[in-house]
Amino acid sequence: MNVSTSDIRQYMICPRIVYFQKDDKDRCEIIDERVVKNLFIKEISFDDLLYSIDWNDSETIEQLLLKSLKNSEDRIREIYKDDLDNIDQKIIFTAKEELTDEIKKIAERLWNRLNTDEVLIKRLMTPIDIEKRVYSDRFGLYGIIDKIVIFDDEEIPSIVKLGNSPNIGVWKEDRTQLTACIMLLEEETGRVIGKGVVEYFRCGRPVLVEINRYDRRLVLNVIDKIKKIQMGRLPEREDKVFCNYCTYKEECNVKRSLLSKFF
Ligand code: SF4
Repeated sequence: MNVSTSDIRQYMICPRIVYFQKDDKDRCEIIDERVVKNLFIKEISFDDLLYSIDWNDSETIEQLLLKSLKNSEDRIREIYKDDLDNIDQKIIFTAKEELTDEIKKIAERLWNRLNTDEVLIKRLMTPIDIEKRVYSDRFGLYGIIDKIVIFDDEEIPSIVKLGNSPNIGVWKEDRTQLTACIMLLEEETGRVIGKGVVEYFRCGRPVLVEINRYDRRLVLNVIDKIKKIQMGRLPEREDKVFCNYCTYKEECNVKRSLLSKFF
């Protein structure tokens, strides 16, 4: 049984969700506006057009983002044909409209960040490769790295996120997912990489993260725990702030199974 880098992120948010998702592919694959927005955001962030000219001011960035958003619709319709052809087309329309309204703000946030270090920020966002599939037999781990970017003449992984960013650093689930991606890329290349990027695209904030031995140990522990969940172990329930909005709220009231006590 193998574990994906997305499982690792999900485990860090709530281990029980990993348990419920393993037998519930249908609910996992529901395509709503949030999912479609995520597709648009990634497509824009991948688009060479965005990095093709200097970002001289907020208006230039805004125009590039708008052009890229326009181009990305055809691409995502083609790439995700099987999924998007079968959903209510209003979902795509609304997701695009909402992002169009938000683009000015994204451009302003990005422009404000550029004042700190324009060259670095653009470099951390410019992909030399996208959606790189990585796999390790040794870890029983696989994943898709959103982008490969260059930092200090080295290729490092980057993951693109739709949500808000913390004021400092990155969310722990993003750090752990990124660590898993770094470990996978290290396996593939035979190099020690030790760093990567979490790109909070809507905040205009790519964050360079240096990982340490605690991050690596955490990933290995989480892989073991997820494998136990895949074999049927129901993790203890920990009340979370978002439990009330969770899709699995009802199932989650299930008591710890007898089987789980043996693991
Ligand atoms: S209801 Fe809460 S504890 Fe249960 S799966 Fe959802 S987030 Fe996790």
